[in-house]
This record gives sequence, C-alpha cells and structure tokens, in this order.
Amino acid sequence: SLLFGKPWGSDGVRITMESALTARDRVGVQDFVLLENFTSEAAFIENLRKRFKENLIYTYIGSVLVSVNPYKDLEIYTKNHMERYRGVNFYEVSPHIYAVADNSYRSMRTERRDQCILISGESGAGKTEASKKILQYYAITCPASDQVQTVKDRLLQSNPVLEAFGNAKTLRNDNSSRFGKYMDIQFDFKGAPVGGHILNYLLEKSRVVHQNHGERNFHIFYQLIEGGEEDLLRRLGLEKNPQQYQYLVKGNCPKVSSINDRSDWKVVRKALTVIGFNDDEVEELLNIIASVLHLGNIQFGGEDSGIAYITTDTQIKYLSRLLGVDGLVLKEALTHKKIIAKGEELISPLNLEQAASARDALSKAVYGRTFTWLVNKINDSLAFKDESYKNPSVIGLLDIYGFEVFQHNSFEQFCINYCNEKLQQLFIELTLKSEQDEYEAEGITWEPVQYFNNKIICDLVEEKFKGIISILDEECLRPGDASDITFLEKLEDTVGGHAHLTTHKLADGKTRKVMGREEFRLLHYAGEVNYNVNGLCPYYLCCSVHPQVMCMSENTILTQCFDRVELKDNKRPETAATQFKNSLAKLMEILMSKEPSYVRCIKPNDAKQAGRFDEVLIRHQVKYLGLMENLRVRRAGFAYRRRYEIFLQRYKSLCPETWPTWEGKQVDGVSTLVKHLGYKPEEYKLGRSKIFIRFPKTLFATEDALET
Ligand code: ATP
Ligand code: MG
Repeated sequence: SLLFGKPWGSDGVRITMESALTARDRVGVQDFVLLENFTSEAAFIENLRKRFKENLIYTYIGSVLVSVNPYKDLEIYTKNHMERYRGVNFYEVSPHIYAVADNSYRSMRTERRDQCILISGESGAGKTEASKKILQYYAITCPASDQVQTVKDRLLQSNPVLEAFGNAKTLRNDNSSRFGKYMDIQFDFKGAPVGGHILNYLLEKSRVVHQNHGERNFHIFYQLIEGGEEDLLRRLGLEKNPQQYQYLVKGNCPKVSSINDRSDWKVVRKALTVIGFNDDEVEELLNIIASVLHLGNIQFGGEDSGIAYITTDTQIKYLSRLLGVDGLVLKEALTHKKIIAKGEELISPLNLEQAASARDALSKAVYGRTFTWLVNKINDSLAFKDESYKNPSVIGLLDIYGFEVFQHNSFEQFCINYCNEKLQQLFIELTLKSEQDEYEAEGITWEPVQYFNNKIICDLVEEKFKGIISILDEECLRPGDASDITFLEKLEDTVGGHAHLTTHKLADGKTRKVMGREEFRLLHYAGEVNYNVNGLCPYYLCCSVHPQVMCMSENTILTQCFDRVELKDNKRPETAATQFKNSLAKLMEILMSKEPSYVRCIKPNDAKQAGRFDEVLIRHQVKYLGLMENLRVRRAGFAYRRRYEIFLQRYKSLCPETWPTWEGKQVDGVSTLVKHLGYKPEEYKLGRSKIFIRFPKTLFATEDALET
C-alpha cells in the first residue's frame, strides 16, 4: 500500500506523514523531528542522503522546509501538483515548496495575518528557484480577474528583468543573484493578487568593472550584444562581440553553455514591455548600459607627467551622445577631482592610476543607481492601485544571500554575514516565541530551551558607539590620515577584548602569528570568519566630480538617479555600511510584523551535477544554516503534535472503545486510545486541542501497530 521512491503515489493516493514513517528505513523520515537521535549530525545527514537518493528533495524540521537542489528537472512542479497541495493540511501530504506556499496563503486568508517566507542558503542552493516556484504557485492557484491577470503577469515578468540586470554567471552558479531581494505580494479580500513591492539589497557593483576568472559581468551586457537588433547596436555604437569590451573580458568567459543570451534578450525585451516600459524609456535604459561598456574602454595617457589625459576620443564621442553630456565636461570629470579645503572648492588633476579608478567608480555608480531606478520603476508598475481598498494582506518573499566564507573575505562578505546574523536573531526570537505561544495556548507548561543567543554578535557589529560599523564610519569620514590600518587599530582599542572578536594585536602589545596584519576575525554564530580590511576604509570618499556631471545629463533616468538636491546637501554623507545597517533594520521591522515560514536550501555538490551528494559540503551547510540548532529548539519539548481529531481519525482502529467511532469529546477519545496503547504519562501531554508526544519512538510503535 505504500508507494515510495516517488514523491507521489499513483493519482489520488496521498502519502501521509504517518504512512511515510513505516518506510523510514529506506526513504528516511520526512520530518527531522522524528529522528530518534536528533542531536546527531550524522543521523541528520544520513536522513538527507536517503531522501536525496530517492529524489525526495524536501524534508521538514517541524514547519521549516529543508530543500536540496536536485540539479535536474523532477517534474514535481506541474499544475497537477499545485492542485494537490491546494487547501490541504501541511502534514497530510509529502513535504513540498507548494505546501509552504499554500500554508502561508491560507494562514493569511483565515487569520488575516501578514506572512513572510524566508529563503536562505548558499550560492547555487536554489533560493531563487524556490521563490519563483512560490510566485508561480500564487499566479496559477489564486483567483483572478482581468485586472488581476495584468498584476500576475507583471509580478512574473519582473523576474527576468531583475535577473538580467542583477544576476551573473559565477563559478558557483550560472545564474547567481548578485543582490538581495525582498518582495511583497499583496492580496485583496478575495485572495487575489493585486500588487507587489520589491526592496533590493547591496548589489555587487564591483562586478561591473571586474570579474574573476571563469565569471561574467551581469547578464544584460551579453544579452544586448548578442541579441540586440543591428540598428539598435549601431545607435548605441556597440559591436557584436563581447570580447571588444574591457568590462567583459576580465573573466575570459563570454559564453556559458547553460545560457542562451540571444533568446534571453527577447524574453527580457518583452518583459520590459509587459511591466510598462515605453520605447523611449527602454532606449534610455540601454543608452546607459552601452555607456558603461564605452566607459570601460576609455584609456588614459600621462605616465611621465603624472597627469592623466584621455587617449580614446571615440569613446568620449559615444558617451557624450548617449548620455547627453558635453564631451569636454566629461573629459574633465574623468581626469580631475574636487577637494574642499577651508570651505573652498579646488579642482585638481588625477594621475593615471587615480583616473582609472575614478572611471571605474563612475561606472559602478551609474550601474548601481540605474539598478535601483529599475526596481523603483517596477514597483510603480506593481503598485496596488485600488483606492477604495486600503489594507491588502501581504505575503513577503525574502531571497537573500546565505552565509559566505571564502579564502579572502572583504566588506561584501562582512555585510552578507552580518545580515545572516540578524536573520538568525529574528529566527530565534520568532521560533522560540511561537513555540512558547503554542504551549501557552494549549495550556502546557513551558520548559525553557537552552540555546545560543547571537544578539551579542549583532551588538558587536551595530552598536551605536562601540560597534564595528560605527568605528568604521568614524574612520571613513574622518579627514586626515584615516586608513584601513588606523581603523583596525581603533577596533583593537575599542572592542579588542570582545569574546567574539580577534585581532592581530594582543592585549599586551604582542602580535598573533596566526592572523594577517590586515585582518580581524569574527566568531559568528555559524563559525569563525577572517575579514580583510584592505580597501575597507575609502578615505578618498566624496571627492569626485562625477555626480554634478551626471546631473547635467539629458538622459532622464540618470537625472533621476543623480539628484541635484542630494549634492547640495552638505551634511555628513552616509557610508555604505551604515546604509546597509539601516536598510537591514527596516527589513527586520517588516519581517517582525509578519508570521514567518522558512525554506533552507542546500547545494549537494560544487559541480552543479545531478545525483551527487557531497557529504563534506553538506555538513558545512547544515552547520552554517543552523539546522541542528533549529532541530534542537524544535525538539526541546515534544517531537510530535497533532490535533485531536486528526490523531483519533488515524489511530482509532487500534482500540475497541474508539472504533469505529468515538461518540464523546475528542480529547477523551484520544486519552482512552493512548491509555489502551500503554503510553506512559511522561511520554505525552494533552493540551486544549492537540496531543503532544515527546519521543518519536512512541509514535513509531503506534504506527507499526497500525501496519500489523
Ligand atoms: P545565488 O545565491 O547564487 O543566487 P540561488 O540559491 O539563488 O543562488 P538558484 O539560482 O535558485 O540558486 O539555483 C541554481 C541552479 O540550480 C538553477 O539555475 C537550477 O539549474 C538549479 N535548481 C535549483 N533549484 C532547483 C529545483 N528545485 N529543481 C531543479 N533544478 C533546480
Ligand atoms: Mg539566486
């Protein structure tokens, strides 16, 4: 009667959680809370492995979904599958991303409470795919009217556009998201999607000017060059060969076998139209993309004199035309800097090296701001427009970079890992709280759980005066001799003794051999990471002429991106670190107000191959995702809990008094049943609406009894 090896039985046969238990030897348990040896990482990984071999990529930890990237099409995302998960109880069907989507949707509808689904995992683990599956689920299963269909289309079409401009081929993922994304989907009182809103985080701008070997720049550049129509390319002054562009050759990887830039171009071009871009806007957008490529090809002379001048006039000509900026002004901006000394503005020439880095800085700024402009534009198009209906319900989707540890970790990893620290904090608060709430609601005494609270690390990073970010700000914005090294010294002086921070210098003035001189080490909740401070403290900040020049542009996108008002404002500029900290604080506030669900994605191997389960790699991720801790918290009290009627329905045949029907109160039926089965008092508790069972073995024994 049990159909395993497939996620689904033959049509119409639902595999219940309970029946899955009996096949646990072969396909493992579909909820980790049912692992007998729940503190053993080896048992955890063995369970994952068993299921992965059977193509069962989803497993729960309570209500948390763990997903292992199969790197192949499993055909489990059909309309049929969507139908099967619609309106069905979470535990009645095998684990699936649709179950999470449906569960959130129903909670939103029935409890009128905003929801969020937090997806985490390392690069290539399947976060973006998961978020797309969820969005598709809503687009297909939710009710729709004509007007709503446009919203659904726009929600779906926002993906290819954002991916074109924000994703790139990296060593770890051919379609790696190089920005964090939080998307609200808004629903009306009938449960139809009526709008959306996107927040973007920390685009990896450095990729615009440099790519590591085997990696590419953002997809859009290649799409435009490979797919752009001839007269379009002529207008943009582009050649049909990516190798011609300095910004596209650094990684030596113009083509990727899994990517078809030409057909992707068509998809993106169409998506822009669906979202509501008119031809002029598309033209202006592409002018900017082409300009970045031309900027990259600008070269400088002036080794001898120490004063840089531009040697590539063709590029200036194109730029001047595409951006609508006077060529001479542009040339001056690219070779000079502005210094404010004693209240006076001084313009001074740059040397060769400075000019090259100023050019790259301009490219990064232009691309980064255009990306933000694009997100805003998409938001305008997704905006909920019905004035008469004020408070739509919301489901938020968070697709954000997981913990990152490389050989060399810089500012970007610092921000990413700090973000994960914050999300862990949120997870702890919300999980423990919801466990506590459930016990309370059920009238069961709460037994406190021992866990590591990572608030101490969040504080170390973000505290107002003594936090790492505030120290960094102080150094970045201090005029004079501030540098990466003075930052590190200040860090040692201020928080040198902190339990989660290690620096090169010891308290007695001696130095630590194991660490580089330009590093500090943070002990994160998930493990230790060394951060290099090289280039962390950009003391040459705010001395460029660019913003003024960009404001003069005739390109209306650019004038919106480089706002004049912002320039006049002479207040202390915000550093990138503080901006990120503030945007994270806002994100936490948004998430706190919602009921969360979690999807934890795991990458099975580094080769992007189907069927390969690399245990070392997976153990690493289980650790960094905090899954064991997660399970421990979830299991601290009871392994299993179920509503009385569901429990009774399943097991009533095991007791003559409850079979075939129990006439009295459900709780009394369950009580009679478990006493008959010989449950000991310490093995279970009866709450207001649910039975709580402490150990999996109790439940397994009951399951086995059902089989015989
Ligand atoms: P990054 O952090 O780099 O953006 P990610 O976690 O978003 O990584 P995805 O882009 O979602 O990773 O997934 C990487 C690739 O893995 C996909 O392009 C796809 O080929 C494959 N993949 C992911 N999830 C699935 C799935 N459920 N079924 C089949 N293939 C998948
Ligand atoms: Mg992604």
